Amino acid sequence: MLKVEDLYVNYGNIAAVQGISFQIKEKEIVTLIGSNGAGKTSTLRSISNLVSKSGGRVVFKGNDITDCEASEIVQMGMCHVPEGRHIFPYMTVEENLKMGDFGNTKEIEDRVKENLIQVYDLFPRLKERRKQNGGTLSGGEQQMLAIGRGLMLNPDLIMLDEPSLGLAPILIEQIFEQFIKIREWGKTILLIEQNANMALQIADRGYVLETGKIIHSGKADDLIDDPQVASAYLGID
Ligand code: ATP
Repeated sequence: MLKVEDLYVNYGNIAAVQGISFQIKEKEIVTLIGSNGAGKTSTLRSISNLVSKSGGRVVFKGNDITDCEASEIVQMGMCHVPEGRHIFPYMTVEENLKMGDFGNTKEIEDRVKENLIQVYDLFPRLKERRKQNGGTLSGGEQQMLAIGRGLMLNPDLIMLDEPSLGLAPILIEQIFEQFIKIREWGKTILLIEQNANMALQIADRGYVLETGKIIHSGKADDLIDDPQVASAYLGID
């Protein structure tokens, strides 16, 4: 589904991502974990072409998208749910969701209706609050809304940047459980997380990023059992 080869991202003198390579197969949940400043967001933003790459290549569904426009990449079926959610606070929940895919043809209207049903099925809380302004939702509900909006385009690959940020453990659990359901719909997930523990519990495989380099990779269960990973990222001695 996605192949990232020898990716570099520099901001002036700062080398944020230093030659990382990884791949994701169809219907996998893969997590990229690492602490603050490890280069996780830069990796994601450069895949979506929201920041320039200083080197490397990205292949999505067999197409080289290294130099494609961000909007083109979205149209090809890749969705990026950014850190910090970026919902529209003065629009209702439903209006926010409809912004994920809009247009005035009958075909688009039908598609929006269908996708709304799917999103409301995933997050019934959003359905209950569909007429409420986005800005009045709780942090967890706003995260559900950001994910829901990403799903409105029915993407093949959904990339999530720290969906657990600022949320209570119980809410993180509820939201992460839905990722398994999203995968059951046939979608592929790339999950960027500082919360390594939660991410590895639902992922198939993981990559550990440190100062812009991948230092460990493997099956999620093996990473959980790896003493080095456990002590550095899972808080287990
Ligand atoms: P966090 O979990 O804290 O968001 P991260 O792993 O996502 O961290 P990045 O946000 O990718 O890490 O940052 C990697 C490095 O690049 C950091 O040292 C950061 O300060 C730097 N950086 C990120 N964005 C910029 C920018 N626009 N200009 C300059 N430096 C940047």
